[in-house]
Amino acid sequence: MPDRPVVTRIAPSPTGSMHIGTARTALFNWLYARHTGGKFLLRIEDTDRERSTAQAVQVIFDGLKWLGLEADEPPVFQAARADRHREAVDELLARGEAYRCYMTPDELAIEREAARAEGRVIRSPWRDRGAGNYDEAQPYVVRLKSPLEGETIIEDQVKGAVRFQNKDLDDLILLRSDGTPTYNLAVVVDDHEMGVTHVIRGDDHLNNAARQTLIYRALGWEVPVWAHLPLIHGPDGTKLSKRHGAQAVSEFDDMGYLPEAMRNYLAKLGWGHGDDEIFSDDQAIAWFDIKDVVSAPARLDWDKLNHLNNHYIRKADPARLAKLVIGVHQSRDFPLHDGHEAILERTIPLVRDGAKTTLDLADATVFALKRRPLELPEKALGLLTEETRARLSRLRNLLETQPAWEVAALEAALRSFAEAEGVGMGKFGPALRAVLSGGSPAPDLAGALVSLGKEESLGRLDDALSPPA
Ligand code: GLU
Repeated sequence: MPDRPVVTRIAPSPTGSMHIGTARTALFNWLYARHTGGKFLLRIEDTDRERSTAQAVQVIFDGLKWLGLEADEPPVFQAARADRHREAVDELLARGEAYRCYMTPDELAIEREAARAEGRVIRSPWRDRGAGNYDEAQPYVVRLKSPLEGETIIEDQVKGAVRFQNKDLDDLILLRSDGTPTYNLAVVVDDHEMGVTHVIRGDDHLNNAARQTLIYRALGWEVPVWAHLPLIHGPDGTKLSKRHGAQAVSEFDDMGYLPEAMRNYLAKLGWGHGDDEIFSDDQAIAWFDIKDVVSAPARLDWDKLNHLNNHYIRKADPARLAKLVIGVHQSRDFPLHDGHEAILERTIPLVRDGAKTTLDLADATVFALKRRPLELPEKALGLLTEETRARLSRLRNLLETQPAWEVAALEAALRSFAEAEGVGMGKFGPALRAVLSGGSPAPDLAGALVSLGKEESLGRLDDALSPPA
């Protein structure tokens, strides 16, 4: 293990969305850096110039920001470092660890065919041909002079020792004939120069770790600690795909999940602390160790995510939730009027117990945000018989004199009203509820009254009891 402060990084390629697997990788890198008092860095692997638009890069910044996993230093852009990558290739050439390969496409095709027939990897005749044997004007690639024998062992923190036979690794190309550096070279040079001590990433990069180890050694650089995380699978155990639902971080945001619930949930995908289901960031940071990541693929479990999100919704500051819920209502073009923030802050604590997402919170708060006079559904109008109207009118007058507009006081007032009237709550409760909610989902009567506030509650009663002619 490098004898330096821990530096981890996330190195996403901007593709236009941020996959949930990338989010989990970011989280594990972030947790490990925090756990060890080290640094967490971001590198944008933007060498695919067509896909790497400013917009696609922004998606990554936004995703990390939303998740609360921002890097400790400004991002490094890989494409901007091509000169540095080429310098490393020059160094490898100078050290005799790399060579120029002038094979033509035709020669390469013949060699590829021969290699396939003989069950071996391709080999370039230029590996052992010294300088002077070629025409400088011919196009060439630069290849790494990989060891031909022995094995390259990746001591992976998650997978254990993974062995690669060197005879199965061809002399990988470091520099293409157009002078552009290849992926594995760029990653090694960048990780080295960013001081990365621990490479924690998806196990689809395990083979690259062998290649990259050879490049590190050829450059005489210290090889980082590897930790390759198992993929995230869908609930049915197959590789996560569109048919399993959301995959992009932004989709989870749009579906009303809170970032702290996502962090808790993602931390549980492949890592855990005993049976603890719910833990804070501080606990995760204190407990997290890369060695405890399990090597079996983790399965996405929507019920667990919903359960966690409900937990964090119940804990969150109502003012913060109100802002999120306003965003949901706006995205649905639901008309908002003055005072909606205060209404939401009052209503959210009364409806959040059953909410799995902020979308549920939005559904549960519609009744409170409606504008007077409410349109009452047929069924509600049916409840408003003469008798009930008269009763609600007496209740309205009682409520007007109600000093404390709080759930417990209002519950008591409603109960004693029913007693005084000599009827059960069922005689007027449903009608009152319909008048207050306009038929939308609403909390219990006292809760609905508190959500609306006294003035609005009395106003809604007045509208229903003396409808405008
Ligand atoms: N850019 C790679 C990816 O998005 C990650 C490379 C790495 O972490 O080394 O999969």
